[in-house]
Amino acid sequence: MSLLLAISASILAMTVIVGLRYLAVSGGFALLTRARFPGLYAGLDPQIRREIGWSLASAFIYGAPAGLLAWGWQEHGWTRVYTNVSEYPLWWLPGSVLVYLLLHDAWFYWTHRWMHRPTPFRIAHAVHHASRPPTAWAAMSFHPWEALTGAVVIPALVLAIPIHVAALGVVLTVMTVMGVTNHMGWEMFPRRLVQGRAGDWLITASHHQRHHQQYGCNYGLYFRFWDRLCGTDRGLGTFRRADGAGTGPVRAADRAGVAG
Ligand SMILES: [Zn+2]
Ligand SMILES: [Zn+2]
Repeated sequence: MSLLLAISASILAMTVIVGLRYLAVSGGFALLTRARFPGLYAGLDPQIRREIGWSLASAFIYGAPAGLLAWGWQEHGWTRVYTNVSEYPLWWLPGSVLVYLLLHDAWFYWTHRWMHRPTPFRIAHAVHHASRPPTAWAAMSFHPWEALTGAVVIPALVLAIPIHVAALGVVLTVMTVMGVTNHMGWEMFPRRLVQGRAGDWLITASHHQRHHQQYGCNYGLYFRFWDRLCGTDRGLGTFRRADGAGTGPVRAADRAGVAG
Protein backbone atom coordinates (compact mmCIF):
# COMPACT_ATOMS: atom_id res chain seq x y z
CA MET A 1 0.00 0.00 0.00
CA SER A 2 2.75 2.43 0.92
CA LEU A 3 4.42 1.53 -2.37
CA LEU A 4 1.28 2.44 -4.28
CA LEU A 5 0.97 5.60 -2.22
CA ALA A 6 4.56 6.62 -2.94
CA ILE A 7 4.13 6.09 -6.70
CA SER A 8 0.79 7.92 -6.70
CA ALA A 9 2.33 10.83 -4.79
CA SER A 10 5.18 11.03 -7.30
CA ILE A 11 2.72 10.98 -10.23
CA LEU A 12 0.59 13.65 -8.58
CA ALA A 13 3.63 15.81 -7.86
CA MET A 14 4.85 15.50 -11.45
CA THR A 15 1.38 16.28 -12.84
CA VAL A 16 1.24 19.43 -10.71
CA ILE A 17 4.74 20.44 -11.81
CA VAL A 18 3.93 19.93 -15.53
CA GLY A 19 0.60 21.75 -15.12
CA LEU A 20 2.14 24.70 -13.28
CA ARG A 21 5.02 24.84 -15.75
CA TYR A 22 2.49 25.03 -18.58
CA LEU A 23 0.43 27.75 -16.86
CA ALA A 24 3.55 29.78 -16.03
CA VAL A 25 5.23 29.58 -19.45
CA SER A 26 2.07 29.87 -21.58
CA GLY A 27 0.73 32.59 -19.27
CA GLY A 28 4.03 34.46 -19.42
CA PHE A 29 4.15 34.43 -23.22
CA ALA A 30 0.43 35.29 -23.42
CA LEU A 31 1.15 38.38 -21.30
CA LEU A 32 4.12 39.23 -23.50
CA THR A 33 1.87 38.85 -26.54
CA ARG A 34 -0.69 41.20 -25.02
CA ALA A 35 2.04 43.77 -24.35
CA ARG A 36 3.60 43.53 -27.83
CA PHE A 37 0.53 42.93 -29.99
CA PRO A 38 -2.56 44.08 -28.06
CA GLY A 39 -5.68 42.50 -29.46
CA LEU A 40 -3.92 39.64 -31.24
CA TYR A 41 -6.00 37.12 -29.28
CA ALA A 42 -9.18 39.22 -29.45
CA GLY A 43 -12.29 37.06 -29.80
CA LEU A 44 -10.37 33.87 -29.03
CA ASP A 45 -11.48 33.48 -25.38
CA PRO A 46 -13.65 30.36 -25.95
CA GLN A 47 -10.82 28.75 -27.94
CA ILE A 48 -8.26 29.66 -25.24
CA ARG A 49 -10.46 28.06 -22.58
CA ARG A 50 -10.52 24.85 -24.63
CA GLU A 51 -6.73 25.03 -25.15
CA ILE A 52 -6.19 25.34 -21.38
CA GLY A 53 -8.58 22.44 -20.67
CA TRP A 54 -6.90 20.03 -23.11
CA SER A 55 -3.46 21.15 -21.95
CA LEU A 56 -4.21 20.49 -18.28
CA ALA A 57 -5.51 17.03 -19.20
CA SER A 58 -2.25 16.52 -21.10
CA ALA A 59 -0.35 17.56 -17.95
CA PHE A 60 -1.66 14.45 -16.24
CA ILE A 61 -0.76 12.24 -19.20
CA TYR A 62 2.75 13.71 -19.27
CA GLY A 63 3.00 13.63 -15.48
CA ALA A 64 2.07 9.96 -15.02
CA PRO A 65 5.05 8.27 -16.75
CA ALA A 66 7.37 11.06 -15.59
CA GLY A 67 6.22 10.60 -11.99
CA LEU A 68 6.62 6.83 -12.16
CA LEU A 69 10.16 7.20 -13.54
CA ALA A 70 11.08 9.90 -11.03
CA TRP A 71 10.07 7.50 -8.26
CA GLY A 72 11.97 4.60 -9.86
CA TRP A 73 15.03 6.80 -10.33
CA GLN A 74 15.08 7.85 -6.68
CA GLU A 75 14.21 4.45 -5.21
CA HIS A 76 15.81 1.97 -7.57
CA GLY A 77 18.20 3.87 -9.79
CA TRP A 78 16.08 3.41 -12.88
CA THR A 79 16.96 5.67 -15.81
CA ARG A 80 20.37 6.73 -17.10
CA VAL A 81 20.07 10.18 -15.54
CA TYR A 82 23.29 11.01 -13.68
CA THR A 83 24.16 13.76 -11.23
CA ASN A 84 27.95 13.53 -11.05
CA VAL A 85 29.18 15.62 -13.96
CA SER A 86 32.48 13.69 -14.22
CA GLU A 87 30.70 10.41 -14.89
CA TYR A 88 30.86 11.09 -18.63
CA PRO A 89 33.11 13.33 -20.75
CA LEU A 90 32.25 17.04 -20.59
CA TRP A 91 31.42 17.17 -24.31
CA TRP A 92 28.57 14.78 -23.60
CA LEU A 93 26.73 17.57 -21.73
CA PRO A 94 25.89 19.49 -24.94
CA GLY A 95 26.14 16.25 -26.94
CA SER A 96 23.37 14.59 -24.97
CA VAL A 97 21.13 17.67 -25.33
CA LEU A 98 21.59 17.56 -29.11
CA VAL A 99 21.00 13.79 -29.30
CA TYR A 100 17.83 14.07 -27.21
CA LEU A 101 16.50 16.93 -29.35
CA LEU A 102 17.33 15.10 -32.60
CA LEU A 103 15.62 11.89 -31.46
CA HIS A 104 12.60 13.72 -30.08
CA ASP A 105 12.35 15.63 -33.35
CA ALA A 106 12.47 12.41 -35.41
CA TRP A 107 9.80 10.77 -33.25
CA PHE A 108 7.63 13.87 -33.45
CA TYR A 109 7.99 14.25 -37.22
CA TRP A 110 6.89 10.70 -38.01
CA THR A 111 4.11 10.41 -35.42
CA HIS A 112 2.85 13.88 -36.34
CA ARG A 113 2.88 13.04 -40.03
CA TRP A 114 1.04 9.79 -39.30
CA MET A 115 -1.53 11.72 -37.28
CA HIS A 116 -2.41 13.70 -40.38
CA ARG A 117 -3.80 10.54 -41.97
CA PRO A 118 -7.61 10.77 -42.00
CA THR A 119 -8.47 8.37 -39.17
CA PRO A 120 -5.94 9.42 -36.52
CA PHE A 121 -6.58 13.05 -37.50
CA ARG A 122 -10.30 12.69 -36.91
CA ILE A 123 -9.87 10.74 -33.67
CA ALA A 124 -7.05 12.73 -32.11
CA HIS A 125 -5.08 15.39 -33.95
CA ALA A 126 -8.12 17.50 -34.92
CA VAL A 127 -8.14 18.77 -31.32
CA HIS A 128 -4.78 20.46 -31.83
CA HIS A 129 -5.83 21.96 -35.15
CA ALA A 130 -9.11 23.25 -33.71
CA SER A 131 -6.98 26.21 -32.62
CA ARG A 132 -7.32 28.59 -35.54
CA PRO A 133 -5.07 30.44 -35.18
CA PRO A 134 -3.26 28.82 -32.24
CA THR A 135 -2.25 30.90 -29.23
CA ALA A 136 0.43 30.64 -26.55
CA TRP A 137 -2.05 28.47 -24.62
CA ALA A 138 -2.13 25.78 -27.35
CA ALA A 139 1.29 24.34 -26.47
CA MET A 140 -0.12 21.16 -24.90
CA SER A 141 -3.58 21.30 -26.43
CA PHE A 142 -3.73 17.69 -27.56
CA HIS A 143 -6.28 14.92 -27.45
CA PRO A 144 -5.24 12.36 -24.77
CA TRP A 145 -4.22 9.83 -27.45
CA GLU A 146 -1.88 12.36 -29.00
CA ALA A 147 -0.60 13.47 -25.58
CA LEU A 148 0.29 9.84 -24.92
CA THR A 149 2.50 9.68 -28.02
CA GLY A 150 4.33 12.76 -26.74
CA ALA A 151 4.47 11.66 -23.11
CA VAL A 152 6.47 8.49 -23.76
CA VAL A 153 9.40 10.13 -25.57
CA ILE A 154 11.50 11.63 -22.78
CA PRO A 155 10.81 8.70 -20.38
CA ALA A 156 11.96 6.26 -23.10
CA LEU A 157 15.08 8.34 -23.78
CA VAL A 158 16.11 8.66 -20.12
CA LEU A 159 15.87 4.87 -19.80
CA ALA A 160 18.17 4.36 -22.80
CA ILE A 161 20.60 7.28 -23.13
CA PRO A 162 22.71 8.75 -20.32
CA ILE A 163 22.07 12.41 -19.58
CA HIS A 164 23.14 14.71 -16.76
CA VAL A 165 20.22 16.01 -14.75
CA ALA A 166 21.06 19.62 -15.73
CA ALA A 167 21.24 18.70 -19.44
CA LEU A 168 17.84 17.06 -19.06
CA GLY A 169 16.64 20.34 -17.58
CA VAL A 170 17.89 22.13 -20.71
CA VAL A 171 16.05 19.64 -22.96
CA LEU A 172 12.81 20.10 -21.01
CA THR A 173 13.19 23.89 -21.07
CA VAL A 174 13.75 23.95 -24.85
CA MET A 175 10.76 21.61 -25.27
CA THR A 176 8.49 23.78 -23.14
CA VAL A 177 9.54 27.18 -24.47
CA MET A 178 9.49 26.15 -28.15
CA GLY A 179 6.14 24.38 -27.67
CA VAL A 180 4.65 27.63 -26.42
CA THR A 181 6.38 30.14 -28.67
CA ASN A 182 5.82 28.12 -31.86
CA HIS A 183 2.08 28.62 -31.32
CA MET A 184 1.85 32.16 -30.00
CA GLY A 185 1.14 33.86 -33.31
CA TRP A 186 4.27 35.97 -33.77
CA GLU A 187 7.98 35.47 -34.24
CA MET A 188 10.20 36.31 -31.28
CA PHE A 189 13.52 35.47 -32.92
CA PRO A 190 15.33 38.09 -35.02
CA ARG A 191 14.56 38.06 -38.73
CA ARG A 192 18.29 37.63 -39.39
CA LEU A 193 18.16 34.23 -37.67
CA VAL A 194 14.78 33.04 -38.92
CA GLN A 195 15.37 33.96 -42.54
CA GLY A 196 19.09 33.28 -42.49
CA ARG A 197 21.20 30.14 -42.63
CA ALA A 198 20.23 28.94 -39.14
CA GLY A 199 16.55 29.35 -39.97
CA ASP A 200 16.99 27.01 -42.91
CA TRP A 201 17.47 24.21 -40.37
CA LEU A 202 15.79 25.38 -37.16
CA ILE A 203 12.06 25.49 -36.52
CA THR A 204 10.56 28.56 -34.89
CA ALA A 205 7.04 30.03 -34.86
CA SER A 206 7.24 31.13 -38.51
CA HIS A 207 7.70 27.54 -39.66
CA HIS A 208 5.05 25.93 -37.44
CA GLN A 209 2.61 28.72 -38.29
CA ARG A 210 2.56 27.41 -41.84
CA HIS A 211 1.68 23.93 -40.56
CA HIS A 212 -1.38 25.39 -38.87
CA GLN A 213 -2.28 27.30 -42.03
CA GLN A 214 -1.79 24.53 -44.59
CA TYR A 215 -1.86 21.27 -42.58
CA GLY A 216 -0.09 18.83 -44.95
CA CYS A 217 3.41 20.25 -44.51
CA ASN A 218 6.00 21.43 -41.95
CA TYR A 219 5.56 18.53 -39.54
CA GLY A 220 8.86 18.94 -37.66
CA LEU A 221 9.41 20.02 -34.06
CA TYR A 222 12.91 21.50 -33.68
CA PHE A 223 14.67 20.96 -36.99
CA ARG A 224 13.64 21.23 -40.65
CA PHE A 225 15.84 18.25 -41.53
CA TRP A 226 13.07 15.63 -41.91
CA ASP A 227 10.69 17.99 -43.66
CA ARG A 228 13.34 18.94 -46.18
CA LEU A 229 14.50 15.36 -46.68
CA CYS A 230 10.94 14.12 -47.22
CA GLY A 231 9.75 17.05 -49.33
CA THR A 232 7.18 18.27 -46.80
CA ASP A 233 8.82 21.62 -46.09
CA ARG A 234 6.78 24.51 -47.49
CA GLY A 235 8.81 27.31 -45.98
CA LEU A 236 7.70 29.96 -43.53
CA GLY A 237 4.16 31.11 -42.78
CA THR A 238 2.72 34.54 -42.18
CA PHE A 239 1.12 35.98 -39.07
CA ARG A 240 -2.15 37.76 -38.61
CA ARG A 241 -1.90 41.04 -36.77
CA ALA A 242 -4.30 42.59 -34.30
CA ASP A 243 -5.61 44.71 -37.19
CA GLY A 244 -6.41 41.54 -39.11
CA ALA A 245 -3.75 41.97 -41.76
CA GLY A 246 -1.19 39.30 -42.55
CA THR A 247 2.40 40.33 -41.93
CA GLY A 248 5.92 39.19 -42.09
CA PRO A 249 8.21 39.77 -44.97
CA VAL A 250 8.86 36.23 -46.06
CA ARG A 251 11.56 35.25 -48.50
CA ALA A 252 10.40 34.85 -52.06
CA ALA A 253 11.52 31.21 -52.02
CA ASP A 254 9.46 30.55 -48.90
CA ARG A 255 6.43 32.34 -50.33
CA ALA A 256 6.62 30.13 -53.36
CA GLY A 257 6.72 27.09 -51.12
CA VAL A 258 10.28 26.20 -52.01
CA ALA A 259 12.31 25.92 -48.85
CA GLY A 260 15.87 27.11 -48.70
ZN1 LIG B 1 0.94 22.95 -33.48
ZN1 LIG C 1 -0.60 18.81 -37.24
